[in-house]
Amino acid sequence: MQAKGTLSINTENIFPIIKKFLYSDHEIFLRELVSNAVDACQKLKSLSSLGEYTGELGELKVNVSVDKEAKTITISDNGIGMTAEEIDKYINQIAFSGANEFVQKYQDKITDARNQIIGNFGLGFYSAFMVSRKVELDTKSYQDAPAAKWICEGSTEFSIEGSEKKERGTAITLHVAEDSEEFLDSNRLKDILKKYARFLPVSIEIEGEKINETQPIWTRQPSELKDEDYLKFYKELYPFSEDPLFWIHLNVDYPFNLTGILYFPKVKNNIEQQNNKIQLYSRQVFITDEVKDIVPQFLMLLHGVIDSPDIPLNVSRSYLQADGNVKKINNYITKKVADKLNELFKENRTSFEEKWDSIGLFVKYGMITDEKFYEKAERFCLLKSTKSKYYTLEEYKNYVQVNQTDKNGNLVLLYTSDAEKQYTYIDSAQKRGYDVLVLEGMLDNHFGEMLERKLEKTQVRRVDSEVVDKLIQKEETQTSVLSQEESDKVVELFKKVIKNDKVTVEVQAMPLDEMPVLITLPEYIRRMQEMSKVQGWAWALNENTFNVSINGNHDLIQKILKETDETVQAKFAQHLYDLAQLSQGILSGASLSEFVNRSINYLK
Ligand code: ADP
Repeated sequence: MQAKGTLSINTENIFPIIKKFLYSDHEIFLRELVSNAVDACQKLKSLSSLGEYTGELGELKVNVSVDKEAKTITISDNGIGMTAEEIDKYINQIAFSGANEFVQKYQDKITDARNQIIGNFGLGFYSAFMVSRKVELDTKSYQDAPAAKWICEGSTEFSIEGSEKKERGTAITLHVAEDSEEFLDSNRLKDILKKYARFLPVSIEIEGEKINETQPIWTRQPSELKDEDYLKFYKELYPFSEDPLFWIHLNVDYPFNLTGILYFPKVKNNIEQQNNKIQLYSRQVFITDEVKDIVPQFLMLLHGVIDSPDIPLNVSRSYLQADGNVKKINNYITKKVADKLNELFKENRTSFEEKWDSIGLFVKYGMITDEKFYEKAERFCLLKSTKSKYYTLEEYKNYVQVNQTDKNGNLVLLYTSDAEKQYTYIDSAQKRGYDVLVLEGMLDNHFGEMLERKLEKTQVRRVDSEVVDKLIQKEETQTSVLSQEESDKVVELFKKVIKNDKVTVEVQAMPLDEMPVLITLPEYIRRMQEMSKVQGWAWALNENTFNVSINGNHDLIQKILKETDETVQAKFAQHLYDLAQLSQGILSGASLSEFVNRSINYLK
């Protein structure tokens, strides 16, 4: 049989366009051709199981080989094959039916069009021309029909002729173009295969080495898998990682098709490094590890694999965001994660608490950014007290209800963002029987604000934002032993020492065990400062804006008042102020050195 013809195509320019549009991802040709070969094997398998093919299946496989001398790459399979008529139908015509329209539509959108071609116009096979000057397709159908050979040299001309091919299947030989000779390196091809074909369902071999796992665990039933299987798979994906905390096996077929495994990693400080680790597959073909729009933002730290033929893979991001399936998938994943967390919490609270430091980050981020997730997470979100006890929101509210309300009946939740630095303040709160939460994570600032919004009649205050007795006003308020005149005198004295107009100084009646001088930073100012840091604003208020509270009831304050030598008095006030700064961790440089020297002199 010998035939010649012209491709059904409305434009002469399709090959230059393929080259140009597909430019940045040349290696994709291999993904496309190997996927086609795998499809051909899968099709034959289906026909066989339907009884439409009764011959030997043999071991279905795809082989990739390179001939450096001849400058060719061959991708062969023993799948379904094609008859000459099928070549005409599938290779010569179909692909280009929409080409003219395509060219007009996408001329101006080169960046995204690259992928569009492949996905939407069935140009997978033609991606071969990204790297070839000539392509030969030698094929023998599973049906009783003569083998056929199709040859095309990168123009609209092709030839089709009889072939000597004896075995069933298709071999595609690429005569690699001069500018693509980098692909004549079998190691390079191996790398590409390992990236895209690692989990394809049919054996892929190159130089006798099988590079894929045909039944990756996400395609299997959870009931037949053990923890070891999941852990082993995790190690395969991320060889140098610590074991994950737990995982979720996803498996839906309606209203969309999605399988996969999501792992919760142990979160380290370096969030960036852990981000963007989920791999996206479509029927076991690797597509991308950019899953930004498919996985909810707050779950981007998860690791693992998602496989869905229903995600439109080859379209622009804005389209993806608007896509109905993507939204549903997003919601599904959110729900699954919430359900899993709830289940873990209910099944074994102790173990959940142990993992909370790692899990908490996801949960808090999810609650802050996703209303639906908040509603579910409310039940298992934990608050950690400085006494290392964990409470649910409900439990904590009930716990502090008794003792921690202000004069307006608001609940006051105290927290520390740094238990070491704020030790003095925590200690003082605890002595009064108040509880202090640990909110020292990177999201906790926002988390605190969220709690305040969500929990009714609740204020969230850092433990050093105000003298604790003022935050939580008890019935029996302290009375000051100082007269108004004495108070004014003390304030005057300390103002001289502090030498900073931005700082407010006031005398307060505090219990005796409180520090003589205490520095506090009002909650709202601190929040603004933190916000400005995050958003990179130039901070409008002076960094030194804080309050100095003097404990009018403290013996040492009264001692200062009695002192007649003004120099000694000033020195003494300075020392107390330095101690307050030291407790806040803001005494440094020359002031610190002066303080140390002064202390030594006192001891002498
Ligand atoms: P798509 O795969 O998106 O349909 P392609 O251009 O990649 O578009 O392939 C067109 C058609 O050619 C395929 O649908 C299939 O019928 C046929 N084909 C391609 N490669 C092979 C192969 N290795 N074996 C059998 N048929 C193939």
